[in-house]
This record gives sequence, C-alpha cells and structure tokens, in this order.
Amino acid sequence: MSASAHLNNTLNAYRYKSSKELRSTYFIFKMLKNPLLVRLLSEAASGILKYNIPLKSLIKNTVFKIFCSGENINEAFATIKKLDKFKVKAVLDYVAESEKSANVFSENTKVIVANILRLGKEAPGNSVSVKFTSLEDMEFFKTLNKFLLTGKSLGSERYSNLLRRVDEICSVAAESKVVVYFDAEDRFMQDIFDKIVEVMMEKYNKEEAIIYNTLQMYLTDRLYYLRHLLEDSANKSYYPGIKLVRGAYAEKERYTAAAERRESPVYATKDLTDEAFNTAIELCLRDHHRVYTCIASHNEKSTELALNLINRYHITDHFKKVKFSQLYGMRDNLTFNLGEMGYNASKYLPYGEVKKAIPYLIRRAEENSSIGPQLIEELTRLENEINRRKTQSKTENV
Ligand SMILES: Cc1cc2nc3c(=O)[nH]c(=O)nc-3n(C[C@H](O)[C@H](O)[C@H](O)COP(=O)(O)OP(=O)(O)OC[C@H]3O[C@@H](n4cnc5c(N)ncnc54)[C@H](O)[C@@H]3O)c2cc1C
Repeated sequence: MSASAHLNNTLNAYRYKSSKELRSTYFIFKMLKNPLLVRLLSEAASGILKYNIPLKSLIKNTVFKIFCSGENINEAFATIKKLDKFKVKAVLDYVAESEKSANVFSENTKVIVANILRLGKEAPGNSVSVKFTSLEDMEFFKTLNKFLLTGKSLGSERYSNLLRRVDEICSVAAESKVVVYFDAEDRFMQDIFDKIVEVMMEKYNKEEAIIYNTLQMYLTDRLYYLRHLLEDSANKSYYPGIKLVRGAYAEKERYTAAAERRESPVYATKDLTDEAFNTAIELCLRDHHRVYTCIASHNEKSTELALNLINRYHITDHFKKVKFSQLYGMRDNLTFNLGEMGYNASKYLPYGEVKKAIPYLIRRAEENSSIGPQLIEELTRLENEINRRKTQSKTENV
C-alpha cells in the first residue's frame, strides 16, 4: 500500500472517537466552512475577552470541545492516556499567551514545571510546549529583541528573572527526560527567542535533544537561520532540536509590515513557503545523525516527503530523531495512521481555562475556515467514517 493510502485510512484515523463525537466534530467543521459564522464566532469570543460577555458555554461546547483537551490537567491526562492506546503521543500545551503580570509569569512557570514532572513520572515519552509570552510580556520581548539587534546590553534584573524561569523549565525537563518545544510567535520577538533557546540547547542537549526551537518556514530568513543553527550546533557539540512549522501569523505579519512601511518578512506565495519548508525537512533529515526534527504540519505532501527521506537516508532510529505532530482536533488521519505505521506521531494538546484558550481557538477557527479544499477533504473523511459505521451497525443488526 502507498504511503498516501495508509495516511488516508479513516478507520484508524477516527478509531478514538465515539460515533456521537464524530457527528459533533462533523457539525462543527461544517460550521467552520462558513466564513460568516467563523467571523461571528470569533467576534463572540473576542467579546468574552474584552467585555466578559457570558458566552463561555457556546465556546466550550463548540470549538473548545474539538480543539482543546479539557479545562484542567486531569482532563488533559485522561486524553493523553486515551491517545496512548492508539500509539499517539501528546505535546501538552498549557494555554497561556500574551500575559502581562509578573505573578502570572511565575504561576505559569510553576504549572509548566509541575506538568513536566507529572509527565516524567506518569507518562514518559510525552512532551510539553511553551510559549515565551506565557513567561514574559510581549513589549519586554520587543525591547530585548531591539537591544539584541543593535548590540545593546541585555543585562537587567528582569532579563535575569526571565532566564531563570526558562532555565528552571529546561533543567527539570532534562532531569525528567521530557522534551520541551518552544513555540514561535510574532517575528519581532524571534531573534531573542532564538538566542535564549540556543543557550538552553547548548546546556541541555549534550546527549540528545530535549529542548527544541520552532522555525516558521514562511519567514524568508529561516533557511539562512537553519543553516547557521546546524553549523553552530556542530561547532558547539550539541544536538539541535528543530520543530518545523509553516507559521500561523502570516496575515498579522503582513499587516504590521505594511503599517510600518517595511518589507513583509513572510514569503509572497504559498509555493515559496512550501519550498522552504520542504528544503528545511531535507536539510534536517540529511543531517539526522545530529539533528532531531519535529515536522509539525498538516500537509500531506510534506509528511510523505519526510517518510521518503527516512527511507532514503536509512534513518533506523527515526522514532527518536524524526517526530510528526498535528494539532488536537485536526488531521487525525495523519497522526493516527503515522502512529499505527510505527512513527513517532503526536497531537499538540492544549488545555486550560476556556477564556485563556480564546486566542488559540480563534486562530484554529480562522485557519480551518481559510484552508478551503483541505477542510472539504476533512469533512469527506468524517462523512465516510460516519457512513461506514452506520452500514456496519446495520449489517450487524441483520
Ligand atoms: C504541532 C503543531 C505545532 C505548531 N506550532 C506552531 C508554532 O509554534 N508557531 C506557529 O506560528 N505556528 C505553529 N503551528 C501552526 C502552523 O504554523 C501552520 O499554521 C499550520 O500547521 C498550517 O500549515 P501546514 O504545514 O499544516 O500546511 P498547509 O496547510 O499546507 O499550509 C498553510 C500554511 O502555509 C502558509 N501560507 C499559506 N498561504 C500563504 C501565502 N499566500 N504566502 C505565504 N505563505 C502562505 C501559512 O503559513 C499557512 O499557515 C503549529 C502547527 C502544528 C501542527
């Protein structure tokens, strides 16, 4: 059977969902097909954030139910155990971003550290993701980034505190052998994120990659950065952990660049982004003796490319070196079939308060609404599985 046929086996893809869950997933994806409804839902969600409009249950029973694993850590762990039965791992994501207060930053650090410790003890092999903006304020990152680029000193008590928080997360992760993925966010903060993650990788990735940076391949400078990272990590003798994504903030990047009258940092076309993403896969997998890669994508062609390269470069330890990840609630056909085929496949698994998850949910609703043909394919796969189950139960009742 071809890789593509394997990846489209809907029986494996939805085995973890009950028929009721399948039908409600179908209904919600059908809603996301309608741009007007998505706009209304996004506005309702923004209203909850701005004006405390009591629409929590609307969000909780629709997009939250599909894209998040629960409101607390116990619910998330129940999902991790369920995924494990289907050979799928989890990247636990405590939803917190664009935070503002010092107390919240240290609370978030405590939560992430506690999650790492619990994963290490109860669910080894699973990972966490961390957003820098859950650990410090965006404006502060902006200033740090400017200082970094203009050669000004970064030294301040606040910067030291940030580094202490990041280091605490990474050192506990290294002791617990729990991989940490640092997410990429807006481009204006990325240089300082790169610098901090490189320091952590040099410190904690001496024997294997525990700490990963994220590279948004829609950014025109990322292939250059990737080559730099591969060379620098070789010189400094550490294993680079590289999570490849296309990037989730293209519209915002373009809008901000236009408003500031500068060139957009994002490639002008999807084809150029695809080319950069696939080149990055090739560069990383070719160097598989040193490089640990996570292909975080819903794109079937890129997934097949990685599978071909695993064969071509005889990457026998691919379970350790090449990981595949999709967002919870999306492209189950890739994740569950990759898991079934013996690859290291995971779901990015957000959990947390509905209100805190709203920016994440708006991104997912808009992303799904804008991917047109892919959403139609997703609906077709769901419909096929719903019908297959109906036919099966009719046959069984005859
Ligand atoms: C496990 C996981 C973790 C993720 N973590 C992050 C993260 O840390 N940071 C982050 O930013 N995103 C993250 N994402 C989201 C990701 O960046 C993409 O938005 C999303 O996965 C869609 O890209 P794709 O590779 O699945 O493929 P596709 O659906 O084939 O590609 C869609 C993407 O192509 C790019 N694109 C589309 N049109 C154009 C155009 N006209 N010009 C240029 N580029 C275009 C955009 O990046 C768009 O999102 C993550 C995704 C996954 C699955």
